[in-house]
Amino acid sequence: MSSASEHPVKHLVVIGVGLIGGSVARALKHAGFVGYVTGVGRSRENLDRARELGIIDHWTHDIAEAVHDADMVLVAVPMGAYDRVFAELAISLPKDVLVTDAGSTKQHAINVARRHLPDPSLFVPAHPIAGTEQSGAEASFAELFEDRFCILTPDEKVNSEALAMVGAMWEATKSHVVQMEARQHDNLLAAVSHLPHLAAFALVNAVRKQGDEQHDPFKFAAGGFRDFTRIASSSPEMWRDIAISNSPALVKEIDALQAELVEMKKALISGDGDTLLELFSAAKKARDEWLEKHGGSL
Ligand code: NAD
Repeated sequence: MSSASEHPVKHLVVIGVGLIGGSVARALKHAGFVGYVTGVGRSRENLDRARELGIIDHWTHDIAEAVHDADMVLVAVPMGAYDRVFAELAISLPKDVLVTDAGSTKQHAINVARRHLPDPSLFVPAHPIAGTEQSGAEASFAELFEDRFCILTPDEKVNSEALAMVGAMWEATKSHVVQMEARQHDNLLAAVSHLPHLAAFALVNAVRKQGDEQHDPFKFAAGGFRDFTRIASSSPEMWRDIAISNSPALVKEIDALQAELVEMKKALISGDGDTLLELFSAAKKARDEWLEKHGGSL
């Protein structure tokens, strides 16, 4: 192992060396923030590839083996694996080792950490708002987080030094680090991330079900369909886990979307073009303003 003491984190353990875990490891190595990275995962092929690509220096399937001399642990597994991973981590995690994560829903992450970790005050929950529809170490890249937000959702019990160190770690990925309450995060992300994924999956299914042997409804689908449905190519397992772990907030957002569709349906049935124009114009205005205000970082 490198003894390079100039690195703020000498030994980082990444549990789940996929798109996000791999990209964090790449970014932190590139920034000189970490000296040595151990990857933990299930797939030998993915871990071998991560080692070949220089994303990690060493790998193991065994969390205990990985963390015995770690300085920091990043959990970057799907939400459905949190319980198992944190339970295992709790058994072997040495005292004073900081833990952060990259999971898409934060109340679930915090509940799991509180349930298992011997000192939950050293767990700093994080969610980098960056990603692609790809999975695995091969798809990772160091620039993924550049100019994107990373939301930390510490509660009042989180150790302030741990918070500062984990904040510095995420800043070293070149993301803009902000803080908010976990519930607020989950409500916001249900609206702007989780609902769009469900809507994309639903739209593709609705179109798919209209096809038959003679008639392929996708044949004439073009740019609009491609733009709207890009995220329906995301990992179904990952999105199942996100949806289940943020279900109350997501159910509310589905109700809101349904209400909008019902309003449009009513206007269509009654031939009420004015209402449609009003609804479409309000949406266009909001989207144009969003692009103007925040589009530079997209
Ligand atoms: P990914 O599928 O690319 O990587 C996940 C990795 O975790 C895989 O290598 C998998 O083998 C490994 N893994 C699964 N179960 C494991 C276990 N029990 N023990 C050890 N390793 C295990 O997924 P990803 O896109 O990198 O997502 C990782 C986390 O980051 C998820 O919690 C996701 O919600 C969150 N996230 C994803 C995105 C995105 O757009 N992809 C963005 C922000 C946050």
